[in-house]
Amino acid sequence: MPQVKLDTNLFINGRWVEGKAGSQPNIDPGTEELIGVVTLADGSQVQAALDAAHRAFPAWSGLTGQSRGAVLKKASSLLNERIQEIAEGLLLESGKTRADAFGELRRTVETLAWNGEEAGRVSGTVHPGIVVGSTRLSVPIPLGVVVAITPWNFPAVLVGRKLGAALAAGCTVVLKASEFTPYTARAIVETLVDAGVPDGAVNLIFGDPAPVSRQLLSSSMVKAVSFTGSTRVGKQLAALAAPNLIRPIFELGGHAPVIVWNDADVENAVQVTAPAKFGSAGQSCVAPTRYLAHHSVHDALVDALVAKTKTYELGHGAEDSTTLGPVAHAGRVASFLHLVEDAVAKGAVVKTGGKKLERAGFYVEPTVLSSVPRDAEILVEEPFGPVATVQSVDTIDHAIDLANASDYSFAAYVFTDSIRVRDELVSRLNASNIGVNQTAPSLPDVALGGLGNSGYGYEGGREGVLAYMHLRLISQAHG
Ligand code: NAD
Repeated sequence: MPQVKLDTNLFINGRWVEGKAGSQPNIDPGTEELIGVVTLADGSQVQAALDAAHRAFPAWSGLTGQSRGAVLKKASSLLNERIQEIAEGLLLESGKTRADAFGELRRTVETLAWNGEEAGRVSGTVHPGIVVGSTRLSVPIPLGVVVAITPWNFPAVLVGRKLGAALAAGCTVVLKASEFTPYTARAIVETLVDAGVPDGAVNLIFGDPAPVSRQLLSSSMVKAVSFTGSTRVGKQLAALAAPNLIRPIFELGGHAPVIVWNDADVENAVQVTAPAKFGSAGQSCVAPTRYLAHHSVHDALVDALVAKTKTYELGHGAEDSTTLGPVAHAGRVASFLHLVEDAVAKGAVVKTGGKKLERAGFYVEPTVLSSVPRDAEILVEEPFGPVATVQSVDTIDHAIDLANASDYSFAAYVFTDSIRVRDELVSRLNASNIGVNQTAPSLPDVALGGLGNSGYGYEGGREGVLAYMHLRLISQAHG
């Protein structure tokens, strides 16, 4: 296995420093072995990161958009040069396959580059004024210090998305990345530092998440918080952000339905959705989770899904033969087993998989459950693992009823050849990101955000940069 040094410290005001609140092990989820440690910030270091970001804001926001963009584009090309080494560290600490690790890092390279271009394009609008010769200008200005909090399931691209957009906007950042995947956050911050981001503009901390977040969001210096993670934590952070009216940009959980209609190419539906289902071991907010098959294609869909699921090679991400890695930690194994057991106790049928592997590492079998009853917890709770459920539906009303029976509103997928069915499903689905006969990728150039329990605000596209800006209105006449 290639040797990557995964120890990670904090980065505060342009210097790597050891955390004063002890350390936490970084564990390879494929072996349960120690692969590094991450040191944790105490209260004085959290404050030092905030102070550094606050001090750096006037100079960073005072640069031209092109100059900020040049730093992001340089970081993108450095990340591309280092992709081989970083991919090995990313897959070790996250459990991803090599293909998933490379795919995510390539997307991060694109994301930094796209935001680098956008930094120079950010612009306002000019409107007629109310008296002759006057004009009104709508001018975007950066908000100030941003707190970014990221999860472990996409440890590179989510860091790239938040840092890319916030820095493009002219904001400075305190990033609290996941303690499960600290090396990847470190590696991306290093590319920005080597690309010339000034001291204090980007700070990276780790720590005990609840108290650290409380301290960060109680600061009047913080103007926005960008969080990707669970709905449970998102609600806590929203409450913490409220007293200081800190703008929230939240990308939370999902529970994506896949409606496969009677005229769909069933095999195609499976081939297209399987990578989204089993990539990153199913630990993705847009992973297809609830297949809703028209009764006339239900059995064919179950057969095709089972056949595809059995082709996955479960193993360590560093092995070339592996096409499905472990889940992130022991808690995810326990949650998987609980959801499968609950569904089976209520009448679901395990068509393939359903167990954990009795070996070191957090391995659960890729799983298909059919005849899943409506009261099964797995239909309500985000499974966040390599498990797909299948239910049979009779009518469009039935499909919509089941698809919309979730408090999440993020991805949904529709497979049909009929324009009428497509239009009706798309208009009635309670979803914010819909793939029709294809997946629904999160690309850097278009805004994406959740509704309901899946969050609010946007990441990606022009709107993703404006999320960190205020539109100042200037009404001006001749003196
Ligand atoms: P999580 O909410 O447990 O953790 C996310 C981040 O919040 C981490 O940095 C963690 O350290 C921190 N955190 C944890 N507990 C906290 C607390 N009490 N107070 C403050 N911060 C806390 O989520 P996770 O398990 O790391 O990630 C998986 C979740 O992320 C899933 O729900 C998934 O759907 C969601 N997700 C959403 C998107 C999206 O774009 N909508 C993308 C990826 C992941």
